[in-house]
Amino acid sequence: MLVVHKYGGTSVGDLERIENVANRVAKVKERGDDVVVVVSAMSGETNKLIGYAEHFTRHPAKKEMDMLLSSGERVTAALLSIALQAKGYDAVAMSGRQAGIVTDNTHTYARIESIDPTAMKNAINHGKIVVVAGFQGMNKDGSVTTLGRGGSDLSAVALAGALHADQCEIYSDVDGIYTTDPRIEPEAKKLDTISYDEMLELSSLGAKVLQNRSVELAKKLKVKLYAKSSFSDNEGTLITEESNAMEEVLVSGVVLDKNQARVTLRGVSDRPGIAAEIFTKLANENINVDMIIQNMGTDGSTNLGFTVPESEIENAKQVMQTFDHDIEGMDYDEKVCKVSVVGVGMKSHSGVAATAFTILAENNINIQMISTSEIKVSMVIDEKYGELAIRTLHKAYGLNR
Ligand code: ASP
Ligand code: MG
Repeated sequence: MLVVHKYGGTSVGDLERIENVANRVAKVKERGDDVVVVVSAMSGETNKLIGYAEHFTRHPAKKEMDMLLSSGERVTAALLSIALQAKGYDAVAMSGRQAGIVTDNTHTYARIESIDPTAMKNAINHGKIVVVAGFQGMNKDGSVTTLGRGGSDLSAVALAGALHADQCEIYSDVDGIYTTDPRIEPEAKKLDTISYDEMLELSSLGAKVLQNRSVELAKKLKVKLYAKSSFSDNEGTLITEESNAMEEVLVSGVVLDKNQARVTLRGVSDRPGIAAEIFTKLANENINVDMIIQNMGTDGSTNLGFTVPESEIENAKQVMQTFDHDIEGMDYDEKVCKVSVVGVGMKSHSGVAATAFTILAENNINIQMISTSEIKVSMVIDEKYGELAIRTLHKAYGLNR
């Protein structure tokens, strides 16, 4: 069996932890499996390097940033390889380039275009443990590129795909995916399995265990993904293709996103093209709009509401000023949050949304906006009821059992 392990910044945060990782990797080798290890920079290292660059300028050249930031992962890869060698294991450290990862030219947010696994395969065939610096590749000119923050997860999944590895295990300081944030609901339960799509909904909703792009790629390449902790021997959570058994479970998790602000536009001219103009302008300013609600127009005007990340609200206000004669008035609310219920079971069962609305009503929580997808129901409510809503919904769907 060939497995890919990926260790995040906290898991390799100091020399003792790197030693701990070396012991874990050695065990895989001892049980007779081949292993490729992908590592992040030691925790805090990438931010420290960004700080160094910003000492000189607010806008350092992206090509130089890639040169700088890619060094963090190389340090860890080299140290882990050295630690393994010191224990008598044959290991080799590789940069992204040496591992054959070719990307496009988008410095600091490059896309992987292809992977030539020949060098890794040769090393594996010689019985070596391959340790790869995550988060990086090279473009066609041979310059180093990086894959965006959290990009080591993406490296690991891409390498697992290219090597046809049996599975890809992502290690961090949490031991899997939970039914909700255990800091909000202590009765939250770790899930044994979850589908790629549910994971994508959960992570984009704020459960920051796996980088989103890596889950998308795992889905595309059908890579069996595990989220595990490097500090325990717990089973972790398997993220995989949807199965019939998964559909039996109505709801897999509930998530709270506090980083939301609501914008409501009153008396918007009810004419073709107005929504296109508003949302194109917001998009041009890179403002990420999430939920949108528009009412039926009366007397030539309508109301339009939408949500944006809290950090974008000032930008959104500015954009809205430019629509002066098309909008009568607007109001904003930063004290809102988004509560979402996620589960593939919703595809085949009815009443999931109705249950959520009933639970919130019973707690006297007013729902300001609603949006749904095939496997998700999201509700915007007053921020001060966010945690209460999560706890009562968690219980209502039986997630604490
Ligand atoms: N070190 C990089 C970051 O902090 C990549 C990673 O850890 O995945 O974003
Ligand atoms: Mg990470």
